[in-house]
This record gives sequence, structure tokens and C-alpha cells, in this order.
Amino acid sequence: MASDSLRRLAADFKQFLAAQDEEDIIPAVAPKRAAAVVSVSKTVNSHALPPMKEGETLTVEFVKATPKETVPVATTENAMNTAQKTKALEELAETIRNCSRCPLGSTRINAVPGEGNIDTDVMFVGEGPGFDEDRQGRPFVGRAGKLLDRMIAAMGLTREKVFIANIAKCHPMTDPLHPEKHGNDRAPNAQEIACCRKYIEQQIAIICPKYVIALGGVAAKSLISDAKSLSALRGRFYNLHLDSVELPRPVQIIATFHPAALLRNPGWKKDAWNDLQLVMDALGLKGARK
Ligand code: SF4
Repeated sequence: MASDSLRRLAADFKQFLAAQDEEDIIPAVAPKRAAAVVSVSKTVNSHALPPMKEGETLTVEFVKATPKETVPVATTENAMNTAQKTKALEELAETIRNCSRCPLGSTRINAVPGEGNIDTDVMFVGEGPGFDEDRQGRPFVGRAGKLLDRMIAAMGLTREKVFIANIAKCHPMTDPLHPEKHGNDRAPNAQEIACCRKYIEQQIAIICPKYVIALGGVAAKSLISDAKSLSALRGRFYNLHLDSVELPRPVQIIATFHPAALLRNPGWKKDAWNDLQLVMDALGLKGARK
């Protein structure tokens, strides 16, 4: 590559790096900025790369960013009280409502940070908001949400006693040009999950429940960090490890079916109930056993 092309490319990259969130850039990249090879974190959007001319080549080395806490979370020495948790979660929700880290930010009606009891032992995490959730800004309020309410009640709990959230906070659509269409929901893709993941991690670290129940394969694979199928992952507990924040105390995660999948396949409800009973046994909940 000609030296002026290389210089132009390096200048483009300098601009590109300056435009990224600070937390997305690895500090060690700075000495390499003058070269055409740079390191960026895995959360940098590929669509944000500078335009390339035909014949130009570019090497981008993806390196995991140094874990960094971006919101205050509890530590084993200094547990957060309810007021501190409330403040931290409200600030995080405000950040989420203003977020445009991935393309879903430009097509959503409302971001859906999550809601519920911040001192709970049980947190449910789905994959992303759907049509109804996008309109109300609340998680699991459509048909699948009604079934989730019944699952929670069967455990002997109520919606007000647990926290409910999603991996992706904005509505992923198959046809974003027609948001009014029903049946337009899809699971968040890998890029959207990578961009949004830090928010659910921060929520889990702030709330620090005893158990996270991942609803569906997308949430299960992402949070358990295992690409196995949901059928292979469900039915047992895992120790939860987060990428971006340290948990103040150990949290267990278990995977089960997403309520929307249970509506389509009622025969899976028995297995889902078995998964929920593992959590109930661990917490000593009597529930409404069937
Ligand atoms: S899905 Fe997450 S990362 Fe993407 S815009 Fe919404 S809040 Fe931001």
C-alpha cells in the first residue's frame, strides 16, 4: 500500500477511534494508532468502521476489553443497600433509554430496561422485547408475559417479588421499516447482544439475586457462555460469570424454555416446570405444585 494511503488510513482510524465510546477501546491500542493495525474491543460495531477504498486492506485485531465497572455495584465488603441499588438501576435505565450503541436504538419505540423487586432472590432474563413491550416500555407484557406471570405464580411468587429483564433492551424486528406489523419479532443477533450485554450484566451485579432464570436459548447461551442447545443446557445450575463486572457474591443460573416457545409447544411445559422446581427447592418455596 502506498505510504500516503497508509497515512490516510491511519488518519481515518484516528478519527474512528476518537468517535468510539471510551470503554470500547483498549488503552493499549494508543501506541499502535499510527499504524494500520489497531486493536478494538469486541463490542465495537462493524458498521462503524471507516469506508475503505478498493484495493486497500486493513487488519483489525479483536481483543477483549479490560473488564471495567461502569456503574457502582456492590462488593463483598460493601453491600449496596436498597436506596443505592434503586439509584444505580435508575441511572442505568436512563442510560439504556438514551442508548444508540446498536441499530435497534434507531427503530425502537421504547427501550425496555426491565422492572421488578430489586432485592429479589430470583431474576428472569429473556432475549428481547416484542411488539407489546416496545409500546409499553415494560418487559413480558404480551401473551408470553401472561404465561410468565402464571409460571411465577406457580412458584409461589408474584411479578412484584421478582425482577424481569431481557438481554437486548430494544425491540428486534424482522422488518424494521414496518414496526406496526404484528409477528415482526425476532431474536437479537450476535452484534446486538454484544452491544447490549453490559446492561444486563450491570443489572444482575446491582440486584445480585441468588438465582437467574434464563428464558430461552438466546438468553441461556449468552449468559452461560455456552453454545450448546437449550435442551442440553437446561435442567441444572451453573455458576454465573459476567464479562464486564464482578459479582459481589456467587449467583447461580438455570435455563428453561421461553414462555413464547411454551405457547407454541405446550408439551414442553412439564420440563419447564421441572426447571422451576429446582429453583423452588433451592429457595425452599412451596409454590402451587402440580
Ligand atoms: S438494544 Fe441495547 S445496545 Fe442496542 S440500542 Fe438498545 S439499549 Fe442500546
